[in-house]
Amino acid sequence: MLNIKYELVENRKAKPDENSLGFGRYFTDHMFIMDYTDGKGWHDARIVPYGPLSLDPACMVFHYAQEMFEGLKAYRTADGTVQLFRPDKNIERMNNTNERLCIPKLDPADVLDAIKALVATEEAWVPSLEGTSLYIRPFIIATDVQLGVHPSHTYKFMIILSPVGSYYPEGIKPVKIFVENEYVRAVKGGTGFAKVGGNYACSLIGQKKAEEMGYSQVLWLDGIEHKYIDEVGAMNVFFVINGKIITPSLAEGSILPGVTRASCIELLRDMGYEVEERKLSITEVEEAYKNGTLNEAFGTGTAAVVSPMGLLDNGKEKMVINNEEIGPVAQKLYDTLTGIQWGKVEDKYGWTVKVK
Ligand SMILES: *Cc1c(COP(=O)(O)O)cnc(C)c1O
Repeated sequence: MLNIKYELVENRKAKPDENSLGFGRYFTDHMFIMDYTDGKGWHDARIVPYGPLSLDPACMVFHYAQEMFEGLKAYRTADGTVQLFRPDKNIERMNNTNERLCIPKLDPADVLDAIKALVATEEAWVPSLEGTSLYIRPFIIATDVQLGVHPSHTYKFMIILSPVGSYYPEGIKPVKIFVENEYVRAVKGGTGFAKVGGNYACSLIGQKKAEEMGYSQVLWLDGIEHKYIDEVGAMNVFFVINGKIITPSLAEGSILPGVTRASCIELLRDMGYEVEERKLSITEVEEAYKNGTLNEAFGTGTAAVVSPMGLLDNGKEKMVINNEEIGPVAQKLYDTLTGIQWGKVEDKYGWTVKVK
């Protein structure tokens, strides 16, 4: 058991209206912090009042972006208990990211203890309105005070929590996507498979361009040939072509291995669908569209679970998918996955973990 010191607030904040939570706008009363020092390892785990940090402006994270993060949720079930969804997968990915960024690894059991302890402390912050949840954001920053470029010798691992609203308060509406053919998100050998802030910083320009043109998200193509599909926005991507399900494989290392992606693949195979993890070119999608075999396309991720694409603009043609309506595969996945997460569908996979 991780030894955690508690310093609790005297007066808790008023909770926001569960009908207008949005995403990542409110934060709970406490946060988790643990420090790392070379020679000493990770130490001083504590749960303290949520608030600003005081950091030296020369801290390495501000200059060279040695930073990583994770994202998962706690869900309130009908009987009032609170559960996590596959936290072991996030923790495993966390250490893979750490390895890539030369950040010292964490003991997976300690991370799970920390998440459970913080969520249990903030249990009253887990909303109960349909579709709402408590978003959990673990992250690590490099805190050495000096401007030389090298892996830091000191770090802070923190966890903050944010009650978030239903992603689809008005029902699932497919979004319009722009196929980005200039900017890239990740390259082979880079950090695409790691969950790091730097990946987001360099993707903002594509997102901004797409939004200015009236699209919600970007479909990212590979960084070498601009030919193969990587991800959609900050989500993994699935296409249903002629009844078969295709998702880009993780082999190139430019794609973030989503927990939702892995869960969808397993659920789909159990439902009897054929799922292929392989390279998928934008040309193959365009040809399927022309032949009338492009049945569905959707993104997957913790925030939205499943986000169908209604229109795909490749700069030459606006491809309308499934009449801009959610398709049967995306709907079935959404219902099953959210059913397991909120405890409405039996979890025969052992994916859910009670907080206490
Ligand atoms: C976090 C993330 C995803 C989705 O991962 P989940 O574990 O399913 O939430 C997909 N792509 C990118 C770039 C991400 O950062």
